[in-house]
Amino acid sequence: MHLEWSPNTKIDKKIWDRYRNLPIAGCKIQATYVWIDGTGENLRSKSKTMDYTPSSYKDCPTWDFDGSSTGLAETHSSDVLLCPVALYADPITQGNNKIVLCDTYNAEGKPTRTNFRHACMEALNQICDKDPMFGLEQEYQLMDLNNRPFGWPVMNGEPAPAGPYYCGVGADKAYGREIVESHYRACLYSGLDVSGVNAEVTPSQWEFQTGPTIGIKAADDLWMARYLLHRIAEDYGVAVSLHPKLFPNWNGAGCHANFSTKEMREDGGYKLIEEAVKKLEKNHAKHIKAYDPSGGEYNKLRLTGHHETSSVEKFSWGVADRSVSVRINRKVAQKQKGYLEDRRPSSNSDPYQVINALVRTICLNE
Ligand code: ADP
Ligand code: MN
Ligand code: MN
Ligand code: MN
Ligand code: MN
Repeated sequence: MHLEWSPNTKIDKKIWDRYRNLPIAGCKIQATYVWIDGTGENLRSKSKTMDYTPSSYKDCPTWDFDGSSTGLAETHSSDVLLCPVALYADPITQGNNKIVLCDTYNAEGKPTRTNFRHACMEALNQICDKDPMFGLEQEYQLMDLNNRPFGWPVMNGEPAPAGPYYCGVGADKAYGREIVESHYRACLYSGLDVSGVNAEVTPSQWEFQTGPTIGIKAADDLWMARYLLHRIAEDYGVAVSLHPKLFPNWNGAGCHANFSTKEMREDGGYKLIEEAVKKLEKNHAKHIKAYDPSGGEYNKLRLTGHHETSSVEKFSWGVADRSVSVRINRKVAQKQKGYLEDRRPSSNSDPYQVINALVRTICLNE
């Protein structure tokens, strides 16, 4: 299919404003349920009317969906359960309307194949006393409907080489900023802990960060931020790719995971960070398996040892070094306390899988 535009761009979005704020009688609100589908990468959503305003995910009923249409079940036994796990304000419909993040369970009540949140929570629940803190950096590429990066020459050819784009300013350097800013504000409105955004090395590639927060929230917020990004870019007629390596000669996309425990953040914590790095080194293969949705195949494309990455084959670490598996920020080395940055997770990794692997290796010695 060759479309230089999305049909969505033909819709006059201003007309929607006539309807968006229509008063609705009674206490009815719209709740959009969001979940990870059978690819482990893509999100799905559907909405239901509720006759009260929930103040927590616990106030939201479970629901179900057709698992056979989303790669999670067979047609003859297709009902898959949606269990609410986090509640957000809806920046699209606004008012008291909500977005409900869910995880998914099959007919036997077991987590589905792509529900990694369940195991992640089991790991985190064992180390509540350590106050585990996570900050996640999501890199992504804005795309046109030709499956070309947004703003790149449409059929072939490439923009001028990398250099001016990272944190760049100017119409010739930053492509699609309104989408990024809309998304950033929407995330803050919704109650996500987004700590910042920046333009990345490849033109029309951008980044946002969730956290740093204790427990599962940075991962829940990351999935919700991905949902909002796809949804808001949809309004602009632009698509989003989380593919970690679209072009061999341009920087790919990662989802660096920053991690610390209470002890690492306290005086003398550097010793524990060094111990954690040693454990990560011993378990390199296990982590590569968990750090993208194809069990490491995506990262073979991305972790080449070039373009600010390390080799997928070999674990490495260093202070202020962006060509390693695990980087220690210079400030952390100077203060002898803080956190570590695992640079291996790919842009399309599941943060629940990543956090699960980090906690089990570093804190539970599995
Ligand atoms: P860089 O691009 O240089 O890696 P970023 O600012 O994009 O830097 O990312 C740094 C991340 O580190 C932020 O997402 C932040 O949430 C996280 N972070 C900061 N302090 C801690 C900490 N003590 N524990 C875990 N994560 C942390
Ligand atoms: Mn139907
Ligand atoms: Mn970053
Ligand atoms: Mn980055
Ligand atoms: Mn980083």
